Amino acid sequence: MSQTVLVTGGAGYVGSHAVVALLERGYSVVVVDNLTNSSREALRRAEKIAGSSPVFIQGDIRDVSLLSTIFNEFDIDLVMHFAGLKSVGESVSRPLDYHEVNVAGTISLCQVMQSASVFNLVFSSSATVYGEPSSMPIRETFPTGKPTNPYGRSKLLVEQILEDLAHSDERWSIGVLRYFNPVGAHPSGLIGEDPKGIPNNLLPYVSQVAVGKLPRLKVFGNDYPTSDGTGVRDYIHVVDLVQGHLDALRVLPDMNGVHVWNLGTGKGYSVLQTVEAFAKVSGCEVPFEFCERREGDIAECWADPAKAYKELGWQARFGIEKMVEDAWRWQRLNPDGYVDQ
Ligand code: NAD
Ligand code: UDP
Repeated sequence: MSQTVLVTGGAGYVGSHAVVALLERGYSVVVVDNLTNSSREALRRAEKIAGSSPVFIQGDIRDVSLLSTIFNEFDIDLVMHFAGLKSVGESVSRPLDYHEVNVAGTISLCQVMQSASVFNLVFSSSATVYGEPSSMPIRETFPTGKPTNPYGRSKLLVEQILEDLAHSDERWSIGVLRYFNPVGAHPSGLIGEDPKGIPNNLLPYVSQVAVGKLPRLKVFGNDYPTSDGTGVRDYIHVVDLVQGHLDALRVLPDMNGVHVWNLGTGKGYSVLQTVEAFAKVSGCEVPFEFCERREGDIAECWADPAKAYKELGWQARFGIEKMVEDAWRWQRLNPDGYVDQ
């Protein structure tokens, strides 16, 4: 009998890629998503790629009675928890919403899991919990820092709550996956990142400049202490990222407690190097101008992914060119993102 995975936020960017990977590997999948930042069409496309369907339930992770019904109705073995709000800027103006969805929503989920005796959880955290580390690359043993915004604080709070929870009951097996910078799209070009409005993140912004929807990229700062003065990040292909979740799901049931893994490639690219890679792969010009630094940004950030390799056998397979190639295919084939049908 196949195992059943509940995927919260399964219609979103990372979640929809996880749904494809789970279905392709024979898991039964139940998705709960309120579609606040996603589209039903993403799941239709995921079905098309995988050749099988998840169960989709439109609903909110804060709705305890809905979650209880889901756990009663389906024999859930494992939970991948992607649902949440993720815009750093928006979190500054809507801190209560961010804490309510990200923190209270996770508490509701864990309460219902506990009542249903389901103790295997993979949580989407972020490298932002490290704050501004004093050296690179970042290892999991580095202290968590002071995130500069409510979004980052909500991720750190959830990590701490999960620690307390695992400490209270040894049946919990929790994987905390600290993402570096997820980018790219499924190689089919059918699913990808579909930001609402003007994108905040570099790659979606560059893609929209290349396709002609935005006039030029604003490069936030060229006076950082990096090779070319622009910010350096560890971009990771979303398909690699999702593979890390599957590897965590495989080992977690035999590992009690909380286990933290960095999911990054271990290699940093500057804004200008990323723009150059994009221009080369797409053949498009990407006009840009230098602007002030963006508040809260750090100069550089890249992972030491050795722990994930050692404990999960996981490592990123795709480099920056493949990330950019797949991001570009998605953008070209879907210039307006998902259009719900
Ligand atoms: P996304 O916004 O595309 O996906 C999140 C999904 O959760 C969306 O489909 C949204 O509709 C759903 N959702 C939001 N609030 C909900 C609620 N109350 N109930 C049910 N569903 C709800 O984001 P993503 O990029 O796929 O990110 C997935 C997770 O990974 C998030 O928790 C995010 O914070 C984390 N993360 C993302 C990045 C990134 O750069 N993409 C980096 C680090 C961590
Ligand atoms: N960046 C930029 N212009 C943009 C968006 C991002 O110069 O329009 C830079 C940003 O300052 C950082 C890098 O690109 O150095 C990655 O930013 P992103 O928002 O994608 O990720 P994060 O800051 O969360 O790591």
